[in-house]
Amino acid sequence: MSAAVYYGPGSIINKKNYLSGIDDKERIILKLKACAVCGYDVRIFRSGHLKVTPPVILGHEICGEIRNDIASIVNGKEFCLKSGTRVAVSPIVPCLNCRYCDRSEYNLCLYLKEIGSSINGGFAEYIDIPPQLVKIGGLIPIPNSIDDDEAALLEPLACCLNCHINMGMRAYLKDTMAIIGDGPIGLLHLLLSKNAGMRTILVGKIPNRLDKAYSLGADLALLFNNEDGVDGKYDEDTLRRVLNYTDGYGADYVIIATSSPRAIEFALKIAAKNAKINIFAGMLGLHSANLDLNWLHYNQATITGSFSSTPNMLNKAVDLVSSGQIKLSEIISHHYPLADIKYALQATENFLGLRVIINKF
Ligand SMILES: [Zn+2]
Ligand SMILES: [Zn+2]
Repeated sequence: MSAAVYYGPGSIINKKNYLSGIDDKERIILKLKACAVCGYDVRIFRSGHLKVTPPVILGHEICGEIRNDIASIVNGKEFCLKSGTRVAVSPIVPCLNCRYCDRSEYNLCLYLKEIGSSINGGFAEYIDIPPQLVKIGGLIPIPNSIDDDEAALLEPLACCLNCHINMGMRAYLKDTMAIIGDGPIGLLHLLLSKNAGMRTILVGKIPNRLDKAYSLGADLALLFNNEDGVDGKYDEDTLRRVLNYTDGYGADYVIIATSSPRAIEFALKIAAKNAKINIFAGMLGLHSANLDLNWLHYNQATITGSFSSTPNMLNKAVDLVSSGQIKLSEIISHHYPLADIKYALQATENFLGLRVIINKF
């Protein structure tokens, strides 16, 4: 099969005849229809990652087509997927033996493997699906109303939902959400936040993405100007505007959807009392934040994290998109064939648009 194989930082090589035995009837194989390029793929490509041992095929935002009929038992019920069915893939492959797996918190599994980082992913013509993924309902059939490209973005939408659920969003009428980060993920958070009925502020660094945020319903989209990287510094003007907009109270929910550790300093400045703050993005390298513990105590604030998602969230994502509440096509800007994977990674890395999709394999 054709595949784009990651061999280490800076090295992805397109192969025409990679791996064999794809006709083995015992294996669960999907034919790729679309695979989106995530910031995580770019980080691995540029700098490598502790979880990734090359050679491996990256790509975890996947829409694929079932190659051979699959029959299995999922949550005690018989489950059958016919060949030709299009599915979205939950990329966390759990051990099914640890405490978190018992609780269906597969994203927290002690021994999890990840499609597209620790095992082969979707930048290839076909993908092998481990049987335990089928057992937890990790292949989710896609209705015709969702096209291949949108189906690839159900995975990041599920991750955003995981974050919103973890923050315990209650969406009182006047609650305000602030999202730091104007990338595709920040914009997905914006779509979910507006769908939940919240006033939503988005803070970013790229002017045309802020325009996009307004077109998607943002109530306020602000440019964050501070580029000097000095610890503890933040953009005073942006801070003042967020506080003015919220009558001095600050935001009830703050999501950090950027890999810049400086965003946490800003998040704490714009958080209201009783705020929930979520560190959604993985940070570049090891970082600690200056945290005023008394601020946390007296403001009754909560700092949370969230990582990946579960099949349960992916199902919820399918419902939100098929019912027309969330329009994932808004987040897609570029398409490339697999042969041009390097351009696809560059387009993502250089912020040329929003999500980039590989759709010819
Ligand atoms: Zn991703
Ligand atoms: Zn486990």
